[in-house]
Amino acid sequence: MERTLSIIKPDGVSRGLIGEVIKRFEKEGIRIAAMKMIHMTKKEAEGFYAVHREKPFFDSLTDFMSSGPIVVMVLEGEDVIQRNRDLMGATNYKEAKPGTIRADFATDIEKNVVHGSDSPENAKIEIAYFFSELEIH
Ligand code: UDP
Ligand code: MG
Repeated sequence: MERTLSIIKPDGVSRGLIGEVIKRFEKEGIRIAAMKMIHMTKKEAEGFYAVHREKPFFDSLTDFMSSGPIVVMVLEGEDVIQRNRDLMGATNYKEAKPGTIRADFATDIEKNVVHGSDSPENAKIEIAYFFSELEIH
């Protein structure tokens, strides 16, 4: 059994896509083991995306991620890291496969509705950034 961190980004929340995204997880038999709505500060967004600190899109990305509330979730299931990435689709929505969350809803390479951990190591770090073990059920 594996865990991953999922985020419905500020564009997904403000456009009323929370239910739509969660429905896709539950339909695939992915269990939601923790969930909360938060609004990150710029500094918190910078901490979360620290691996991208040197990228040209870092400042804009962290402005966006701190621009409004987000929904953070711990997803649980077999091979859930990869299965969540498959449901999300490619980072660039123009390259995302039809039927993926990003192909269906993203409007921009930055405003692409969802985040998902990309490896077991990062899933562990990212889950711990938002949740204590006591909040995961
Ligand atoms: N991003 C961006 N421009 C780019 C690449 C990424 O604005 O050229 C944003 C986008 O919101 C993406 C996030 O930065 O989801 C993190 O990038 P990463 O390469 O980790 O993509 P992801 O893992 O989210 O698919
Ligand atoms: Mg990533």
